Amino acid sequence: MISVVIPAYNERENIPILYEKLTKVLDGDYEIIFVDDGSKDGTFEVLKDIAQKDKQVKVIRFKRNYGQTAAMYAGFQHARGDVIITMDADLQNDPEDIPLLLKKLEEGYDLVSGWRKDRKDPFLSRKLPSVIANWIISKVTGVYLHDYGCTLKAYRSELLKELELYGDMHRFLPALTKRQGAKIAEIVVRHHPRLYGRSKYGIGRTVRVILDILLVKFLNEYINKPMYVFGFVGFVFLSVGLLALAYLLFVKLFLEESIGGRPLLILSALSILAGIQLISTGIIAELLVRIYYRSKEDKPYIIDQKINL
Ligand code: UDP
Ligand code: MG
Repeated sequence: MISVVIPAYNERENIPILYEKLTKVLDGDYEIIFVDDGSKDGTFEVLKDIAQKDKQVKVIRFKRNYGQTAAMYAGFQHARGDVIITMDADLQNDPEDIPLLLKKLEEGYDLVSGWRKDRKDPFLSRKLPSVIANWIISKVTGVYLHDYGCTLKAYRSELLKELELYGDMHRFLPALTKRQGAKIAEIVVRHHPRLYGRSKYGIGRTVRVILDILLVKFLNEYINKPMYVFGFVGFVFLSVGLLALAYLLFVKLFLEESIGGRPLLILSALSILAGIQLISTGIIAELLVRIYYRSKEDKPYIIDQKINL
């Protein structure tokens, strides 16, 4: 079964056209899950109409606008397919690319990501930051993709069920699934200019993306062992401090010089303190991580209504 997950925020005009196109492309066992992310333009009413006629269309309506990541996350948690396709609701992604993604997935990949090679968005505010961001994300995460920002992707659903998403994390799904050993491929997909509605993002997104990169890097490498990060730095400080102190002791006891006024004394004391602090922070972080994993049931969104689910 295939689940198509579509986040939609104020996309009233686009939904019926998208739905038509999807039904042309999809056949057999599938479901389309629209997540209405607190739209105020009547998107929900349009979705409700469609879902009443077509039971394969399912709708989740959020209480308020929680953002694209939460919308996709809710879709993943309700999806029943063994393959999940994500795409934008704004007709910029083309449903006709879905069969291509599925074909690639069958070649033995766990995630196939779309690459909007000929992207129809403004150059300065969107395409240029995107080129830079993709380069940095690829370098930092070690997962080389041309287009992290493209929502049109196909996943084996096991990859997504265990993931917890928040903030703007949907952009990093390839890097996050890599932790689970996912085999990732990229194929060129079509892209169209937005005809109806407005883009929900501007240039301000770039800064958030960069902060998220740091977070993803940390989560990917150290979430299970924060003690290593803090402990390592703490250990270095502690060793340097102890060595300096040993040297001062030697000077005091064997050379019988006064050490009371030496900056090195203060430095070694500080260094030892910093080392102890860092190591204990590491221990506390370890405890927090364990609690964090135990309290995973919390959901980062509140659902107002569900249809056909
Ligand atoms: N979206 C959402 N919640 C938000 C912002 C966006 O569900 O808070 C949806 C939006 O309706 C669209 C997709 O996420 O289906 C991508 O948004 P948009 O087209 O504005 O982004 P762009 O293509 O300009 O990067
Ligand atoms: Mg768009």
